[in-house]
Formats: sequence, structure tokens, C-alpha cells
Amino acid sequence: MTDEATVGRDRGPVGRGGAPGGDPTAPARPGTSGRDAAVTPGLVCAHHHLYAALARGMPAPPRTPASFREILELVWWRLDAALDLEMLRWSARLGALEALEQGTTAIIDHHESPSAIEDSLSVIAEACAEVGVRVVCAYGVTDRHGPDGARRGLEENRRFLAQGGAGLVGVHAAFTCRDATLEAAADLARQFGVGVHVHVCEGPDDDAAPVRLSRLATPRWVLAHGVRLASGHSLSGTIVHNPFSNLNNAVGYAQPARFRNPVALGTDGIGADMLEAFRLAYALARTADVTVEPDRAWRWLAAGWDLVPEARDDRVTWSYAPMHPGHVAFTPGIRPLRVEVAGRVVLDDGRPTLVDAAEIRARAREQAARLHARL
Ligand SMILES: [Zn+2]
Repeated sequence: MTDEATVGRDRGPVGRGGAPGGDPTAPARPGTSGRDAAVTPGLVCAHHHLYAALARGMPAPPRTPASFREILELVWWRLDAALDLEMLRWSARLGALEALEQGTTAIIDHHESPSAIEDSLSVIAEACAEVGVRVVCAYGVTDRHGPDGARRGLEENRRFLAQGGAGLVGVHAAFTCRDATLEAAADLARQFGVGVHVHVCEGPDDDAAPVRLSRLATPRWVLAHGVRLASGHSLSGTIVHNPFSNLNNAVGYAQPARFRNPVALGTDGIGADMLEAFRLAYALARTADVTVEPDRAWRWLAAGWDLVPEARDDRVTWSYAPMHPGHVAFTPGIRPLRVEVAGRVVLDDGRPTLVDAAEIRARAREQAARLHARL
């Protein structure tokens, strides 16, 4: 069991660069006025799948998925198997661009491309660097493609981390991995002093995850979803709540307020608009408890800075002030005007400065057409 103080106050899962302190609950510095009230640190998407940026508009599956398991089998596991590195490059560029355009300067990505494993994490990291967005990469190891697929996935995590990449060790989910694979991933993470990024209890297939992972998980692990995770579970790590995805997959409400673990917010691959994720997290919390204030979901958003502390030093100037939870929860259409990442202006007057947004969108459309033709 972990508690709020265990994760990331001194070092996030990535563990590089240190955490510049500060009050994580005060991104908008309540009480300030004028221009500063429109400035926050860069937002963090704590669970993303950049490879999913080309999925929108994909052809309908052979039959309509009727369960979470069928959504995986008929949509995502067909899509990820069809990806090659060129598709991935443009998918990641598009996903990074869309993150930047929403004031999200750090992405914790979870990747799978079983037909193009080697170098895939470097392709994602390069794409994000070109756009000017931070990324923490992980390859989702799985036994879905046999022991050799799992071995190659582990090796891609090892290669990327050994070459100095910012990353976690990825695991798809306990229910698609043998115990030996889970142990190997946990060992690898331990060797590099990082956590494991894994889906946990998103749907009924994964109900055994807490038992199988509890002795492996550390406070540096990133646990996506936790929808069916028992309130009194014994998994260490940060639970990432993905409100849009959970609604879209009809898996239920995670009720993240019940956990003792730190809770952060993600999108699970449906863009990287973290103000939207915040608003949805707030509205969902209200459906369970009408006394909940927007500050609670804002604290979940702010927990992203414990995972990627460097994003605290990024600056986003928004189209609206004050950027306080009680305002943002009820104000549509807030957009960033200017974004600085590590002191460099990467978005100015609402437009990216390092890349041509129109070109990325056009090339991503071409790659999406190639991908969809394979499905
Ligand atoms: Zn996911």
C-alpha cells in the first residue's frame, strides 16, 4: 500500500531531473490576478496511446463489439497489429501536436505495435521531440503473440532505457501475460530504477490482476484505470483515471476517490485534452457524490506533475483567466495561446513554432488511409 507522499514528491517514476517542489494543488495560484492568473504549468496526460491517433474514422469491425473484451479483439488488437513504423511516426506527430495545442506538454505513453516492435519507442520519442512535447515511453509487453513477442517487447523497453530514453517498462495487462513475463518486466524496471506502466482492472478479464501484481508493484508503477480494483487492494503505484475512455467502453466508473493511492488523469489514447479530462472527471465524480467540488479533480490533474516533474517548469498562457478549478469546470473552449517547454516557446499565438501543423495533419491522413486499408 502506498500513500500520497510516497510517489514522486522527491522523484517521479522516470526519476530524471528531480522534482522542483512547489504546491501541486495550486497550479493557478488562487488569489493572483491579471496575466498570471491565465498561466499554469504544462499539463500532463498520465496515460495515452499515441499510436491511436490514426484510429479515428477506421472501418467498422467485422461485427459490433458487445463487450470490453470484444472491443480489444475486434478494434485495438487488429489496429495495433497493422501498424508499421512510418504510420507510427505520423500518428505520434499528430498526437503530440494535438497535445501541444491543448496545453499538454508531457505525455506518459503506452505503446504496442506487434508487427513493428524494434525502435518503436525511439520513433515516438523523436516525434514528440520534433513537436516540442515531453514523452515518457513504454512498450506494452504481452504474451498475446507468444513467448517471442513478449521477449521482443521486453527487449525494446530495455534498449530504449539503456540508451537513455525517458521511459517506464510497459506491460499490456496481467490478463495477457504469464507470471514469468510479469516478473521479467518488474525486474527490468527495477534494474533501471523506473516503474511499470500497466493496465489494471479495466474490464472483467483482468480481475486477477491485483493478486498477481501485488508483490511486484512499487510506488513508481503507473496503473491505468482501476475500474474494477477493490477499494482495499494492496497495489502500490499511481492510479490513472481515464474518464472519457471508461465511458466510451462502458466499463463502469472507477470512483478513484476511494483509493489511498495517488490518482492522476489520462485519456487512454483519445487525444490529450486534459482540461476536458478534468471536466469529465469532475462531472463523473458528481454523479456519485453531489457534494464533490471541482478541486478534487483538479488535484488529480495536478498529480501528473509528480509523475513528470519537469512539466511543472513549463508555462502555458491560456485564453481565459483565472485558471481556477471552479472556473475551468464550467468554462468551455479554453485554449492555450502560448506554451513554453524547458524555456523554449513551442506554441505562440495558438500555433506550433517547431512544426507545420497543416503538414502533420495531411501526412497523418495519408498514413491513416494506409492503415485503414489493412484492416
Ligand atoms: Zn490504455
